[in-house]
Amino acid sequence: MSARAGIVYLVCAGPGDPGFMTARALELIASADVVFYDRLIPPGALDGADDDADLVYVGKAPGKPSIPQREIEERMTAAALAGKSVVRLKGGDPFVFGRGGEEGETLRAAGVEFEVVPGVTAGVAASAYAGIPVTHRDDASAVAFVTGHEDPEKAETALDWEALAGFPGTLVFYMGVKNLGRNAAALIAAGRDPEEPAAAIERGTMAAQRTFVATLGTIAETVERERVGAPALIVVGAAAAAPPNPAASSSPG
Ligand code: SAH
Repeated sequence: MSARAGIVYLVCAGPGDPGFMTARALELIASADVVFYDRLIPPGALDGADDDADLVYVGKAPGKPSIPQREIEERMTAAALAGKSVVRLKGGDPFVFGRGGEEGETLRAAGVEFEVVPGVTAGVAASAYAGIPVTHRDDASAVAFVTGHEDPEKAETALDWEALAGFPGTLVFYMGVKNLGRNAAALIAAGRDPEEPAAAIERGTMAAQRTFVATLGTIAETVERERVGAPALIVVGAAAAAPPNPAASSSPG
């Protein structure tokens, strides 16, 4: 299981608290020749890297210029083909809204070996820290991870609002703050109950975590009033009304 050369590891960094990085992630960072890392990685995540390792920031901040995805993939591919042990470090889990799937396809097409190191995704961890069990024997038999950030210019929406409105369980929206008003209205228009509990969790698992509980009908207003900013998750469902988790690092708002 140790790190090899000429390979790319698509590695989880967890949701924010360094304690949620996996042993495998830390081991690979420690032995990497190159680490390409994202914006949403925990503080100190790279402390264990070798002094000689190349640590390359390739993060994308909302609304700011950033390295194109294609270039990141080209640089990872080139480093692996040059015989390096490459870590691609991403927030949360690499295969949950992390573009790990696309990067894997590119690497495969270029004949580069890669390995996925799964990890703790924000949808589960931030919810848990907010005291919200995404499944619950009484309240939620299923959970759906949904992107809240669809390009409004796209002619056809990939989200099936009728299906989401009828989904028998918890809806967890990633990247859901900017379009929250629109998305909540779409869910309600498609038949989801506006009185259903909804929570917004900002900076989940981090010291500055804030949680706000409202209803589907009022969550957009709450988020605006409280100036909830990224990274934040929106959780819709009966379980979102759960009491706060006493283990969370700060009290919910
Ligand atoms: N691969 C990541 C998700 C990347 S998409 C994962 O598995 O967690 C980025 C989105 O994840 C953010 O817009 C936000 O919705 C969510 N997110 C990431 N970290 C978060 C955190 N600490 N608290 C709340 N939401 C978070």
